[in-house]
Amino acid sequence: MTTQARPKLEQPLSESLFARARQVTPGGVNSPVRAFASVGGHPHFIAHSEGAYLTNADGQRLLDYIGSWGPMILGHNHPAVREAVAEALQGGTSFGAPNEREVLLAEKVVELTREQGVERVRFVNSGTEATMSALRLARGVTGRKYIVKFRGNYHGHADGLLVEAGSGLLTTARGELGEAAPSSAGVPPEYAALTLVSEYNDPAALDRLMQERGQEIAAVIFEPVVGNSGVLIPTAEFLAALHRVREHGTLLIADEVMTGFRLSLQGASGRLGLQPDLITWGKIIGGGLPVGAYGGRAEIMEVVSPSGPVYQAGTLSGNPLAMAAGLATLTELQAHPEIYAGLERYTAALADGLRAAAQEAGVPLTVNQIGSMLTAFHQAAPQGGISSYQQAARSDTQAFAGWFRAMLDQGVYWAPSQFESIFVSAAHGDAELNLTLDAARRAYAEL
Ligand SMILES: *Cc1c(COP(=O)(O)O)cnc(C)c1O
Repeated sequence: MTTQARPKLEQPLSESLFARARQVTPGGVNSPVRAFASVGGHPHFIAHSEGAYLTNADGQRLLDYIGSWGPMILGHNHPAVREAVAEALQGGTSFGAPNEREVLLAEKVVELTREQGVERVRFVNSGTEATMSALRLARGVTGRKYIVKFRGNYHGHADGLLVEAGSGLLTTARGELGEAAPSSAGVPPEYAALTLVSEYNDPAALDRLMQERGQEIAAVIFEPVVGNSGVLIPTAEFLAALHRVREHGTLLIADEVMTGFRLSLQGASGRLGLQPDLITWGKIIGGGLPVGAYGGRAEIMEVVSPSGPVYQAGTLSGNPLAMAAGLATLTELQAHPEIYAGLERYTAALADGLRAAAQEAGVPLTVNQIGSMLTAFHQAAPQGGISSYQQAARSDTQAFAGWFRAMLDQGVYWAPSQFESIFVSAAHGDAELNLTLDAARRAYAEL
């Protein structure tokens, strides 16, 4: 057999794949942030993943800090997850009838989050479905129609939640407190009007809104640690105000799609001592396959069909391959609790290293970090740090874009937006930390 040299490419394969993708898919991507619109250049098409690294279609290895936007906490292509999915595959891909793995994963989730009040879990196929379903349930339980969310928090792309929704949408019109401004075309103002908006980390504003309209509000949904305006950490006073909404008969929904099983085995709720009425999950709960879930006390959850009158269904919900990946991931995390300490150590060292490197180069930088989540905002720290969407939005996105490109040129794949968290995995070790900080020093020096 002769080995033939691959014909020389006129342009990188990622670039030509992106050109082809744009001919058949809007913007060439199936989720907007992947398009690199805010940082320039073209997205890398990924052919393979292993541990902390991705290999792109051109054969370049990239040190990955996106982790598929959160799910890959164990690192890519983890053997335990791969083998669990391969084993499940032997039995077929979908049944449209119950299977044992759904029970096992639900039992695991309940076991891990019982102290946060979770007694029942319903599986869906994405984080968007989870939050959408949890809100329908809250409206069904309370008989009220309004919901409250916080400016810059993202809860998926359901109509009523695309209001002041952060992340990929962080350039939207600003409404007054409590007034809804849709952050997407195609959302009727009548839908958006049912979503009231308050400020994150502003307990007085939330108290005021609840005093004025509490009797009409079915639920308050929030990111217990924000990842979708960049990382924002809640104050104790704000968490206390969140719990006070229950005095109005309003349900408190912790959207843990990003933070669940990441900030601790009990999620952000466990780490911060929260007692929400409902919790939503996604990302890690599917171990890299499409899974979302929502759960809470039995008295609330049993209002969901077929037990109760709130309808919610899914052809592929509880899919055996997806359940296998989620179960393998949670089982591995539970068997190795030291993973969380390692993630904390790595990410804190990364935060310190970035601060030092930026300072050395005279680049204004404020790093927010908790557990394995981190955002390096390109701005000098305001008094009290960055704790709200408005403060995050003052970052120098041009400087970030330049730094991002310099990192990527050195093979470090950071999240391609100033307003995202990065995600460290258990596969990131000393070699990766050193590689990252060496690259960061050069990238700050070039700014
Ligand atoms: C990612 C995310 C969602 C949406 O999940 P999808 O699986 O992308 O639909 C919802 N809420 C939060 C907090 C998220 O980070």
